[in-house]
Amino acid sequence: SGLDADDRALLERRRKVLGGAYRLFYDQPLHPQRGEGVWLYDRHDRAYLDAYNNVACLGHCHPHVVAAISRQAARLNTHTRYLDETILDCAERLLATLPPPLAQVIFTCTGSEANDLAYRIACQYTGAQGLIVTRMAYHGVTQALAQASPSLGAQVPLGTHVRTVELPDACDRDALTPAQRFAAQVQRAVNELAAAGIRPAALLLDSVFASDGIVTDPAGFIAPAVEVIHRAGGLFIADEVQAGLARLGEPFWGFVRHRVSPDIVTLGKPFGNGHPVAAVVARRECMEAFGQASRYFNTFGGNPVSCAAALAVLEVIEREGIPKRVEEVGEYLRRGLGQLAALHPEIGQVRGAGLFIAVAFASNAERSAAAIARAVVEGMRERGVLLSLTGAGGDVLKIRPPLVFERQHADILVERLDQTLAALRAGPPPMT
Ligand code: PMP
Repeated sequence: SGLDADDRALLERRRKVLGGAYRLFYDQPLHPQRGEGVWLYDRHDRAYLDAYNNVACLGHCHPHVVAAISRQAARLNTHTRYLDETILDCAERLLATLPPPLAQVIFTCTGSEANDLAYRIACQYTGAQGLIVTRMAYHGVTQALAQASPSLGAQVPLGTHVRTVELPDACDRDALTPAQRFAAQVQRAVNELAAAGIRPAALLLDSVFASDGIVTDPAGFIAPAVEVIHRAGGLFIADEVQAGLARLGEPFWGFVRHRVSPDIVTLGKPFGNGHPVAAVVARRECMEAFGQASRYFNTFGGNPVSCAAALAVLEVIEREGIPKRVEEVGEYLRRGLGQLAALHPEIGQVRGAGLFIAVAFASNAERSAAAIARAVVEGMRERGVLLSLTGAGGDVLKIRPPLVFERQHADILVERLDQTLAALRAGPPPMT
């Protein structure tokens, strides 16, 4: 391989001490040494444009967040069982970004813990167990969520209380609108649960459907489905781990774009710009019902350092006008990618919102769409741009850069994708 002796030694150490469940990206794994803004640098100081990392939402090592973490870590780090201002400042600031019915917060360390807790709250509040998710959903690592994450594959069977729904394909031309089709799917899932004697606790949706291939349009298409779950006595949980915190631009939260009112919202990934902090926000009645029945103590969740990190992120998003910038740059990037589609028949569709963008590939005579997608990810890495894939067929390019991505970075991405697709066509046909 093209790896040098040092990286080969690291690979060997990994094989020895890390479990087999760990997976690396790329045929030749990347070994970054430092990050700054939208760039990662390797040992040879080669720069890679990070068009994939939604965790470092303000850019790698954002100085305001780093300073907030350092300051708080040097002063005090305890837990949520003492009085402390930081957690309240953070909770109030977070709630100010959400519609008023969402009134109370519980902090966790990961998105998985947030979704797991959201499901517990929903079960407690409804007295029911049933859970409805999309066909390629991913919601987290716990047993309860793995059983509701069909994207993990057939090796992880779905729970007997879990039903899946298909997302509407905007291209379908039947008499129903995408919103009606989606609502009908959720009604079918409710009926199937009922036939098995199970009442629904919740409809749990990733507001951008990241692992289903990034499905953003038409905005508003989930609204009638939310009515269906409410009529059936279940709650609507918006999983904003991917879509939230201005990823989609001005709507700030993905559910806002769909004009719906969740009973519970979960968030994580970008919340601490890399520091592990996540949260569940819920309607007061839901939180109170849960609080009366249960105690929740998460050793690290909501500690002062985590809250200082999250508070700093919320401050920077507002101070730097991130939602508007995301809206503008995202549109610019989608336009650039759309122009590429006219030059490269391998590009089937460009879709997305804000800085969460999908390029769906189309098969050609030589390669399947998935093979093109894989070759593009590798080719882009060779050209210094980091990206990945999504979708049931693994044939959709997932573009999800830090929110501080600028037009100049979009230009680099589009230019390198142009080169990569041209090289792919000019290169030798794939070995079969
Ligand atoms: N929900 C969604 C939609 C996610 O994409 C993820 C992580 N990929 C999670 C939940 C779980 O978050 P975490 O990895 O922080 O546990």
